[in-house]
Amino acid sequence: MKKPAVFIDRDGTVNEQRGYINHPSRFIILPGVVEAIRALNHHGFHVIVVSNQSGVARGYFPIDLVHEIHEFMKGHFRKNRATVDGIFFCPHHPGGSVPGYAIQCNCRKPKTGLIEQACKSMDIDLSNSYVVGDRCEDIELAEHAGMKGILVKTGYGLGEIDHVLPFKAVKPAHIGEDLFHAVQWIMNEERASQKR
Ligand SMILES: [Mg+2]
Ligand SMILES: [Zn+2]
Repeated sequence: MKKPAVFIDRDGTVNEQRGYINHPSRFIILPGVVEAIRALNHHGFHVIVVSNQSGVARGYFPIDLVHEIHEFMKGHFRKNRATVDGIFFCPHHPGGSVPGYAIQCNCRKPKTGLIEQACKSMDIDLSNSYVVGDRCEDIELAEHAGMKGILVKTGYGLGEIDHVLPFKAVKPAHIGEDLFHAVQWIMNEERASQKR
């Protein structure tokens, strides 16, 4: 049976925004993230991380480092009884320098390639799914794929709200303090829609 998903941005939403995460020591999981993911697990959502990692294309770090950090992240959640069902990332950038990755791709957010990859590997009810992230590109991703977008104030969020969002045609369905509060809002939406 198809289940809705919550697509969660990584840097600035799951972990502290610290420029390029080019070493495991820079990967610090934000407060409330484990609890948020656990709540989504219990409420029947796929939990899927979607991330732009152009540092690979730019030659700042190897793709293996991204995999290493994702193994660490999954392990941390597993230890805390929270499950991430999928992790999809874009290692590309047209302005990069690493052959094979320095390309114009269809998976760099706000393009929808990562969502399409996720839909190929699991049964997702996209029309009832959400994107949570700290950048306007996450909200645009939601719009492009027919989902609701929630902007969080962690990471680049506050700056995006002040300096980028006013000039964007697309607006978030909600602005939340952080991932935990974004998930609370999603739960309320779900409850409201079940009453309808
Ligand atoms: Mg981000
Ligand atoms: Zn890509």
